[in-house]
Amino acid sequence: MKNHPRMPLRFYNTLTQQVEPFAPLHDNIVRMYTCGPTVYNYVHIGNLRTFTFQDILRRWLQVRGYQLDHVMNITDVEDKIIRNASAEHKSIAEYTEKYTQAFLEDTATLRLQRPERLVKATDHIPDMVRAIQDLERLGYTYQSDGSIYYRISKFPGYGKLSHNDFSGIRAGARVDVDEYDKANARDFVLWKAPKNDEPFWDSPVGPGRPGWHIECSVMAMKYLGETLDIHAGGVDLVFPHHENEIAQSEAITSKPFARFWLHSEFLNVEAQKMSKSAGNFYTLRDLRELGYAPEPIRYLLASVPYRKKLNFTFDGLKAAATAIDRLRNFKLRLETDRYPEGTNEKLVQRTEAAAQRFGESLDDDLNTAEALASLFEYVRDANTAMDAGEFRAGNIPSALELLDEFDRIFDVLRPSSSEAGTTDAQVESLIAERAQAKKNREFARADQIRQQLLDAGIILEDTKEGARWKRK
Ligand code: AMP
Ligand code: ZN
Repeated sequence: MKNHPRMPLRFYNTLTQQVEPFAPLHDNIVRMYTCGPTVYNYVHIGNLRTFTFQDILRRWLQVRGYQLDHVMNITDVEDKIIRNASAEHKSIAEYTEKYTQAFLEDTATLRLQRPERLVKATDHIPDMVRAIQDLERLGYTYQSDGSIYYRISKFPGYGKLSHNDFSGIRAGARVDVDEYDKANARDFVLWKAPKNDEPFWDSPVGPGRPGWHIECSVMAMKYLGETLDIHAGGVDLVFPHHENEIAQSEAITSKPFARFWLHSEFLNVEAQKMSKSAGNFYTLRDLRELGYAPEPIRYLLASVPYRKKLNFTFDGLKAAATAIDRLRNFKLRLETDRYPEGTNEKLVQRTEAAAQRFGESLDDDLNTAEALASLFEYVRDANTAMDAGEFRAGNIPSALELLDEFDRIFDVLRPSSSEAGTTDAQVESLIAERAQAKKNREFARADQIRQQLLDAGIILEDTKEGARWKRK
């Protein structure tokens, strides 16, 4: 069992279209950037599939001994945000704060690890303006009607991520919108002049706001350096967003922007991408209201390997809940039943084989389905052995260890506490402490308190009159 060398950790790289062994460039630290949410609404479970994939990726990198420096952006300025904010007569900041908090709550509910840095686009406008000036100086831009565009024909590598030949495109055709399809490869906007009474920032490149693509290039390089180890997002970001990020970053640095590009497939409903525009979406909150606990949702999102489409159904969600029950029951049986002394050697080997296959499956481009299969086959065999009186007390520790290994990644065995043991007075006192922390600009502490309350089933809502709270 232990005598053949382990295959290295490897990922499918969209850039090279190959599965490649992965190790970070420097030290033991994986420098990773993932595109975060556009905070104009609640995220749906399609978005959350992508963020869950990134959580599994984070956790597995840690199990394999790496530290993470993971940056995720919050897109808090963008066309839809501006449209919605103005419809509600709110400032961009007021409008996005609610959905940013909701995102943090939803991802915490799904037990997604917080990236080391969560950064907002609007906190980096001067950095973006400087990058646009760099691109201007290097001759990659032109102006039209007060907006600044990136001239894609200037960048020879344009198309290398999406594997498209764009050499025949019409020079000078341009778009203002951030999303468009491959058939319409266009010069894209870096800095957008305000129309009518749209909000804008004053800057050395004129009044306006940044395009979506420049935000990610700038924040990624600011915190992680010129070459990232991993850049990840959903498949819909390959083109144009990530292609444009490469064009911007590499034009400035002349270095490869990211070594590994990882893209997760869609979560679909009836063969259609779940999306806000199609109206076929569920938020985490919708599913919670329908009575589903976070664990089966997390399990369902994690159980399909990230490069396969995930077809969302309620049957699938119920099957996920059953799978978790099976594992929890097995664990309970290990912890509470009595077994004869001694060790069943055959079962020891069986456990080792399962643990090995579990790890090998995740090393293989995060094949979660295969990892789960190895665990469930083991649980079936162990249950059979228990029923037949062949399971021994000495087999308990390795069985629990395997469950632990599983739960370090999947994190579904602990039930979410829906009933808070926290008294109203304790909640009030934590909220007061949080308000003080915010006043002192100790935001990490304030976030920690919010999380602590959330873990206890308390939902906070910040209002002008202070924080309001309710039990989940
Ligand atoms: P957005 O807030 O639209 O920028 O999307 C946030 C993330 O969710 C991006 O990485 C998208 O690629 C991803 N995403 C959007 N829709 C889906 C879907 N139906 N399934 C999986 N990922 C998605
Ligand atoms: Zn991005």
